Amino acid sequence: MATSKEGPERPTERLDIARGLENVPVSAWPPGAEPEPFQYTPDHVAGPGTDIDPTQITFPGCICLKTCLPGTCSCLRHAENYDDNSCLIDTGSQGKCANPVFECNILCQCSDQCKNRVVQQGLQFQLQVFKTDKKGWGLRTLEFIPKGRFVCEYAGEVLGYSEVQRRIQLQTIQDPNYIITVREHVYSGQVIETFVDPASIGNIGRFLNHSCEPNLLMIPVRIDSMVPKLALFAAKDILPEEELSYDYSGRFLNLMDSKDKERLDQGKTRKPCYCGARSCAAFLPYDSSLYCPLGKSNIS
Ligand SMILES: [Zn+2]
Ligand SMILES: [Zn+2]
Ligand SMILES: [Zn+2]
Repeated sequence: MATSKEGPERPTERLDIARGLENVPVSAWPPGAEPEPFQYTPDHVAGPGTDIDPTQITFPGCICLKTCLPGTCSCLRHAENYDDNSCLIDTGSQGKCANPVFECNILCQCSDQCKNRVVQQGLQFQLQVFKTDKKGWGLRTLEFIPKGRFVCEYAGEVLGYSEVQRRIQLQTIQDPNYIITVREHVYSGQVIETFVDPASIGNIGRFLNHSCEPNLLMIPVRIDSMVPKLALFAAKDILPEEELSYDYSGRFLNLMDSKDKERLDQGKTRKPCYCGARSCAAFLPYDSSLYCPLGKSNIS
């Protein structure tokens, strides 16, 4: 090959944002550009203020020797989670709550090929972190992703409520907020809250931008631990080069109750949304319950 005068610093190895820790390397665009450094973790890690270790095994396994089927498999409490093509069956459409998902875990007797093991297989598609016009870095797919397939997790430090408040107090309006609150409404009326911050320790999920018409859907999936993995599935067929996005407010995840809505609607300084969707709400969703220190205390 002829020597080229331009690009003397052309890297010989392609940058992998995931530092070799995922099944598939994650490239960056444009070449040579690199996001601010952060510590990569494919899985949640225990952060300050929480007493549950997300790496601890808390669920017993099933004793299925052949196929795991609802009715006989203790991991499939409601119905099957995935079809034969590893697609999520219940996408909680039309405001109906998606059923909780429990995958087979390390203590299960079933094989690694069990259909109820999807999120635990990790990344399956070639994804790329890229520079967007107005939204900083974003994440896109380089290949077609069929509706229902698992795309990636939103993984990072699992925090207690007081630590979340502490970190939010330290943020300025210019700082992007990465902390996500997932509220699961349990049948008993109880609400399970999980707080995840991938800002300094996290996976590629931290590059996802918000959209008011997202192509991903976030579902809490439990495998070994009571702490759910925040798994993002394709909400529709996604074409190569399409930016991946989800709705930060979690509207897709659960029916929003009136209290959640109030919390999101209470103005304060809101950040503009640049998602470009027809139904765009013009501002990024905002969970004011996290911003008022007197609201609640000692939740976790
Ligand atoms: Zn089973
Ligand atoms: Zn199984
Ligand atoms: Zn099982």
